[in-house]
Amino acid sequence: MKQKCLFCNSYIKSKRQGLIIFENTNAYSILNYKPSVPGHSLVIPKQHVTNLKNLTGNTLEDLIQAIPETFDKLLAIFDFKPELIPDYYKSLIYEPPESESKEFAQFMLEHPLLYNRPISYNWGMNYGYKAGQRERHLHIHLFPRSESGLGIATAMRKLLQIDDK
Ligand SMILES: [Zn+2]
Repeated sequence: MKQKCLFCNSYIKSKRQGLIIFENTNAYSILNYKPSVPGHSLVIPKQHVTNLKNLTGNTLEDLIQAIPETFDKLLAIFDFKPELIPDYYKSLIYEPPESESKEFAQFMLEHPLLYNRPISYNWGMNYGYKAGQRERHLHIHLFPRSESGLGIATAMRKLLQIDDK
């Protein structure tokens, strides 16, 4: 299992590369390797589970606690180390963890909000294959939202092609 799971492996790899954004006893967070908005992060339990109900001990608590902590760390990155995020996307182009990562990273590097400090965020989980879950290791997506970006409601309406009139 350890050899095959992207997120079990990514903990060790990200730690070695100094790419862990936040970490507590049972959870950690990293920038997503297939980002859909600048700073899009993943909050991941260290325990390898697919289903929320299989998390044991304080893992669920640590996982949830890591969400606002990760956002605070992202704010600090935008404020003090703004190059860190584009540098990470550049690294995805040279060494993509997945073939799709390159395309996602390129899109981010050209994104108009690349350096825009977020003020809000959405978080959520893709649960099961049809919901978009590709990795069997449970994880939470954190999407930073900045002042000039689309709010989630407007973005969803555009995605669903609902007329805004
Ligand atoms: Zn795993």
